[in-house]
Amino acid sequence: MAVSDHVDFSTFMEGVKKRNPGQPEFVQAVQEVSEDIFDFIADKEEYHAQQILRRIAEPDRVVSFRVCWEDDNGNIRVQRGWRVQNNNAIGPYKGGIRFHPSVTESVLKFLAFEQTFKNALTGLPMGGGKGGSNFNPKGKSVREIMRFCQSFMTELYRHIGADIDVPAGDIGVGGREIGFMFGQYKRITNEFTGVLTGKGLEWGGSLIRTEATGYGAVYFLANMLAAKGQDLVGKTAVISGSGNVATHAAEKIVQLGGKVLTLSDSGGFIHDPDGITQDKIDWVKAHKTHRRGRIEEYCDEFKGASFTAGKTPWGVPCDVALPCATQNELLGDDAKALVANGCVAVSEGANMPTNLEGVHVFKDAKIMFAPGKAANAGGVAVSGLEMSQNSGRRAWSEGELQQMLKDIMDGIHTRCLTYGDRGDGYIDYVKGANIAGFKKVADAMLAFGVV
Ligand code: NDP
Repeated sequence: MAVSDHVDFSTFMEGVKKRNPGQPEFVQAVQEVSEDIFDFIADKEEYHAQQILRRIAEPDRVVSFRVCWEDDNGNIRVQRGWRVQNNNAIGPYKGGIRFHPSVTESVLKFLAFEQTFKNALTGLPMGGGKGGSNFNPKGKSVREIMRFCQSFMTELYRHIGADIDVPAGDIGVGGREIGFMFGQYKRITNEFTGVLTGKGLEWGGSLIRTEATGYGAVYFLANMLAAKGQDLVGKTAVISGSGNVATHAAEKIVQLGGKVLTLSDSGGFIHDPDGITQDKIDWVKAHKTHRRGRIEEYCDEFKGASFTAGKTPWGVPCDVALPCATQNELLGDDAKALVANGCVAVSEGANMPTNLEGVHVFKDAKIMFAPGKAANAGGVAVSGLEMSQNSGRRAWSEGELQQMLKDIMDGIHTRCLTYGDRGDGYIDYVKGANIAGFKKVADAMLAFGVV
C-alpha cells in the first residue's frame, strides 16, 4: 500500500528544518508557501500520495562551484558560485543571477523555490531556478567585473542552455554583466542562442525588459486598488531601493498620478516631501547605474530632501508602500508602523522583502498585500517573451510588449482572486498566489509520475 504524507504542518516544517540546517531563508520561504498549500491539499489525496509538496521543496539540483579571477593588482581572488535548479515541470529552469556578498546557498534556494511559483503564475512555460555568487561588484573596476563574469560563465555554461536553463539579471547583475556573460558563453560554445535574458537590444534583448519588474509591480498595485474602486491618483508612495526595480516602480507611480516620497540603498533612505519627480528619477538612475553613486548624494542635488543613515523608510507616512530592495527589509514593527500611519496597500517589488511576521500584520489589518511572486513577476514574464522572440528570431514592438505585460499582470491578478478571495471582503493575495502557482506545477508533476 502506498504511504501518503499526511503529516501535520509542524511535522512537515520540522523535516524541512532538519534537512536544511543553517538555511533560514529557504526554510522561511517554504513555510510561507506551505501554510497555504496545506489547507488547499487537505482533501486532495493524490498530492499527498505523490509527495508533491515535499518534492517541490527539494531542488532538482544545486550546483556549487569555485570562481577564480585576478584583480587589477594581480591578486588571485576566489569566490563561490551556484546555480539552483529547483523545478522544470512546466518549462526550462528560469531565474536571475545575483552578485552580492550576502549571497549564500540558502538565499539562492529560497529564491529558486519562490521563482517556481512566480513563473507558473505568469502563465508562461518556465520552470524555476536562481544562481549567483558572493562576489561584491561594489568598488570593482569594469575590467575586474568582466574577468569575474567570464570566469563565472566558464563553469556555468555547462549547466545551462536555451531549452535547459535560462538565467537573467538580479541584484548586482544588469545589462553590462549579462553582456560579459553572454560573450563568454558564445565564445565557449560557438552558439548564438537565447541562453540568457536581459540582453542588449542589439544582440537579442527585448524592449521593456528593464522596466518590466517595476512597472509590473505598480500595475499589480493598481489592479488591487481598482478591485476596491480606488486608483493611484494623488496617493503618496514610500519605496525602498534605488536600483532597477525601485526606479521603474517610482516612474510608473508618477505616470499614474501618484507622488513618490522615498528611495533607499544599503546606506539608508532619502525622503523628499516635494515628491521624487521624473527628472529626479532620471538623475537617480544615472547616479546609481552609470556613476555607481550612493543615494545619500540625492540631498546635495535636490534641496529639501533629507537622508536618514542606516534605516529603512517604513516610518514615513504614506498611502501605498513598495519594498523594492532585498529580502527581509520590512519587519513586523515596520508593518505595524505602516498600518498605524494609514497605508492601504503594499506591493512587493523585491523577493520576500516582508518577513513572515510583517505579512501576518498586514493580513490581520486587512491591508491589500501583493507578495513578490505575484507583484514582481512582470520581469520574468518579459524575460519569457524575450525567449519567445529569440526562438522565433524576431522582435516585437514596444507597444505590443507593453500590452502583453499588462495582460500578463491582469492574468496574475485574476489567478490570485480565484484562490485568494476569503469571502469576507478581504482578498488574501498571498494565499491566492501560492495556490495558483502550486496547482499548475503540481498537476504537471502528477502527469510525469515519479521522476
Ligand atoms: P539592483 O541591484 O538594481 O538594486 C538593488 C537595490 O537594493 C539597491 O538600491 C541596493 O542598494 C539595495 N540593496 C541590495 N541589498 C541590500 C541590503 N542588503 N540592504 C539594503 N538595501 C539593499 O537590483 P534589482 O532592482 O534588480 O532587484 C531588487 C529586488 O527585486 C531583489 O529582491 C530582486 O531579487 C528583485 N527582483 C528583481 C527583478 C529584476 O527584473 N531585476 C525581477 C524580480 C525580482 P546598494 O546600491 O547600496 O547595494
